[in-house]
Amino acid sequence: AIDPETMFKQGFLDDVYKERPEKAVVTRFPPEPNGFLHIGHAKAIAVNFGFAKFHGGKCYLRYDDTNPEKEEEVYFKAIEEMVRWLGFSPVKITYSSDNFQKLYDLAEKLIEIGNAYVCHCNDDEIKAQRGGESHGERFRCTHAEQSVETNLEEFRGMRDGKYKPREAFLRMKQDITDGNPQMWDLAAYRVLDKPHHRTGSQWRIYPTYDFTHCLCDSFEGITHSLCTTEFVMSRVSYEWLNKQLVEFQPMQREYGRLNITGTVLSKRKIMQLVDEGYVRAWDDPRLYTLIAIKRRGVVRFDQTIRRYLERTTPRLMMVLDPIPVVIEGAEEVQIDVPFHSKDASMGSHKLKFTPTVYIDRSDFREVDSPDYLRLAPGKVVGLFKAPYAIKAVSYSKDESTGKVTEIRAEIVKEEPEEAGGAKKGKKGEKRISYIQWVPSGSREVEARIHNSLFKSEKPEDVEGGFLKDINPESEVVYKGLIESGFDEVKARAPWPEAAGESGHGKGGPESVRFQAMRIAYFAVDSDSTDDKIVLNRIVSLKEDASK
Ligand code: ATP
Ligand code: MG
Ligand code: MG
Repeated sequence: AIDPETMFKQGFLDDVYKERPEKAVVTRFPPEPNGFLHIGHAKAIAVNFGFAKFHGGKCYLRYDDTNPEKEEEVYFKAIEEMVRWLGFSPVKITYSSDNFQKLYDLAEKLIEIGNAYVCHCNDDEIKAQRGGESHGERFRCTHAEQSVETNLEEFRGMRDGKYKPREAFLRMKQDITDGNPQMWDLAAYRVLDKPHHRTGSQWRIYPTYDFTHCLCDSFEGITHSLCTTEFVMSRVSYEWLNKQLVEFQPMQREYGRLNITGTVLSKRKIMQLVDEGYVRAWDDPRLYTLIAIKRRGVVRFDQTIRRYLERTTPRLMMVLDPIPVVIEGAEEVQIDVPFHSKDASMGSHKLKFTPTVYIDRSDFREVDSPDYLRLAPGKVVGLFKAPYAIKAVSYSKDESTGKVTEIRAEIVKEEPEEAGGAKKGKKGEKRISYIQWVPSGSREVEARIHNSLFKSEKPEDVEGGFLKDINPESEVVYKGLIESGFDEVKARAPWPEAAGESGHGKGGPESVRFQAMRIAYFAVDSDSTDDKIVLNRIVSLKEDASK
């Protein structure tokens, strides 16, 4: 969670404000709609929307949609949804493409004042002009000497389809003597004969980032244009171009990118993981895209997730790897189970206790030991909310797999002295440990436990590239059983019940969240159907639990 006091009232962002203490702060979050947002964008969202909110100003969501080659409709919707999911509301949604005509007119103006020219050089020629590999002398091509009339005619020719891609481009005439490469006559417009999702086939030329971003910031009256540090060098060209062409001068300042170890945060690389099938989609819970984090069921981004879910979600019994326990002499009874042991307001539900129950394989051992507190032959264990404890008397095994297939147990009405797992309570009374169980007839669930998608902390540094570092155990799938209380938990979603109001995933399957007792917190996954429950682990119950 963001603490506005520490984020905006001190440090870098406080300095940025003091440098330009505007009454009416205006910021923007400007994603390119060429992929889904990741957690790095969450920082950008927090910085831009948060800065405006903290200073009582406004923030736009601006789609930087100037490259029709890579942009797709689905991304637009998903981006807006994620901004809202994080709890922010754009004062207005804008599109760089809405300014195409205005930008075009300004490009002509730049030509008219002698500061842009149409160039026909290829990549090698441009490289040479910029000093080449050896960082030699920089020079301009002859196109830079064309008259204003020629440049205007050529630029209109570009616009009207006279040139194919790469045959011509509009260059700004900056200052090639400047040490900063961002001043070496950057491209302003290129030919690209692709239909645009908003302007259709109206344009055959599209403006570059360097031409578009600063001007759009000015059009929107952006007071503080906050971007990441890879744009530090671009600040010079940003200011140069705005000074040439527009009145309103926004101030660009740069903050650090968010990096996370053990994953990759780049739309291009994430797209590769998706396209090549390492993960199922952009919202695979192993990724750090925001839709993936949402699908995993996460509500908040800090270490308080656990504490928050502990207070706000109901508890259910589930077993990941079930073994039947046949309890001799037991009869079916109805019991009443509260949804939360410390919060009666969550209510309770009825549950059948059946003569055969299922417990988790990890709660049984063939050979007992004094420090083992769960079920083993001759050992007593309590079943949560069941009318009595049980003691294992025997078990059967599938000899070919070596796996226990059934446990037989007897009823233990009182906690006996010899109870193996007994711990001394405070007042000296005997205590036994309790485990979760589910009755016969419980529903099957597919529980997915996600681990890191990569084996190392820095997948990008691994020899052969990040794809060589994929963790084969990144998703562990259990075929488990869940108690019938699940149906009510689902019917009563969202959990937490107030979550819908702040936009934390109301209505989606991932808003069905609960604590599977003694296992982890889970959310229903979007792969679920009417007859199949699929769950994602949100977080484990304790830090460092491997499952
Ligand atoms: P990627 O490299 O993942 O493709 P991008 O920078 O190309 O990201 P944009 O859609 O252009 O993605 O980003 C929108 C805004 O989010 C930009 O201002 C960008 O600087 C910021 N941003 C992107 N990644 C991060 C990050 N890891 N940390 C902080 N801000 C980020
Ligand atoms: Mg970008
Ligand atoms: Mg990028």
